[in-house]
Amino acid sequence: MSPFLSPMDVQFLGGAREIGRSAILIDDRLLLDFGMDSGNPPAFPIGDVDPEAIVVSHGHLDHVGSIPTLLSGDARPPIHWTPPTYDLTMVLARDTLSLHGGTYDCPFTEAELARVTEVSETHGYREPFHAAGYEIMFFDAGHIPGSAHVLIDDGETRLLYTGDFHVDGQQLLAGTTDRPDADTVICESTYADTTRPPRAEIERTFAESLRTTIWEGGTVVVPAFAIGRTQEVLCICEQHDLDCYVDGMGKRVTELFLRDTNSGFLRDPGLLRRAKGNARFVDGRDGQRERIAEQNTVIVTTSGMLHGGPAMTYVPAIRSHPVNKIAMTGYQVEGTPGRDLLDTGSAELDGRVQRVSAQVEQYDFSAHADREGVLAFLDDYRECEVLINHGDRCEAFAAELQKDGFDASAPALGSTVSF
Ligand SMILES: [Zn+2]
Repeated sequence: MSPFLSPMDVQFLGGAREIGRSAILIDDRLLLDFGMDSGNPPAFPIGDVDPEAIVVSHGHLDHVGSIPTLLSGDARPPIHWTPPTYDLTMVLARDTLSLHGGTYDCPFTEAELARVTEVSETHGYREPFHAAGYEIMFFDAGHIPGSAHVLIDDGETRLLYTGDFHVDGQQLLAGTTDRPDADTVICESTYADTTRPPRAEIERTFAESLRTTIWEGGTVVVPAFAIGRTQEVLCICEQHDLDCYVDGMGKRVTELFLRDTNSGFLRDPGLLRRAKGNARFVDGRDGQRERIAEQNTVIVTTSGMLHGGPAMTYVPAIRSHPVNKIAMTGYQVEGTPGRDLLDTGSAELDGRVQRVSAQVEQYDFSAHADREGVLAFLDDYRECEVLINHGDRCEAFAAELQKDGFDASAPALGSTVSF
């Protein structure tokens, strides 16, 4: 007999009607994700939590950035995730510590970070495990390596938390095809109002554009997020015979994905290995970056939105010549230098507003399902209660789903839904 006679209470502590700081608390004892919004100023999940266990969907900052804070004082709740998610969390947390340690922008200490390893429990896809009294299973979400849909079963109710997901294939991953049975679904909606061309078409246009600049004697800087995007671009360069350099945190993440414990989460580890072999890794010593920026080549580097990182050396170095190109590979958030550059042709780089004469282009290599993808996914859950989160217009999308016959809503930050 199930010990759970009461309904399941789901409280939204972050990522509700917003993107960033994802955090969901089940029955006051099981925490799903605990992210941070790296905006200026950064934002963290609301409220004080003291969970019995934590389950993590995937290793992006907005889902894992605040996790070490859960290990302050005597608290040692187990953290359940896939091996890549564990490794990515450690890389991101060390980066946050080294950039912001001791300030409000870093909510945890070195000691708390060290404890993450002590409480980590890794699981593969479709391997059931128990946490805080629930039976839980991960399914491949097709977003980044190790990303998972999380199915939580209390013996009476099955809750499916999609996390971030993609239904179309990428270089590193196949799209999600798992549709586990559930009673309630919490579904992300990041790109639920976007329709994008097929990925292969975007990749072809991107590769042709890079090749054109190389033929014309220019340099291409490709700002790319370290996790997933950098490796996607390296794979595209390898497949299109484009020589490239890679710089920034994406180098470490490439190595991490190829570790024995993680490579099984890739669609084709051999492809990423060849892509790594095709790319030259930059260590940045002795003016190496300035010399590379003068070459007729492609440079893949963080940060993806031009906040910082080695892009702060490359972009100023190539910006004055119109034969050069800056090829953005993702959405640029309002207020970031990347967005300013697209909108105005200038951006504040390294503390100085700089005019850019080089060509600026943008390509949508998103790792999220677009509108058709989200709707195709949800079509298998027409009989379920659907809770929409992780988006800029969650309420509007939930209203559209209602019109289409779904029992859908978009819970507010701080609210609790019971079922
Ligand atoms: Zn994500």
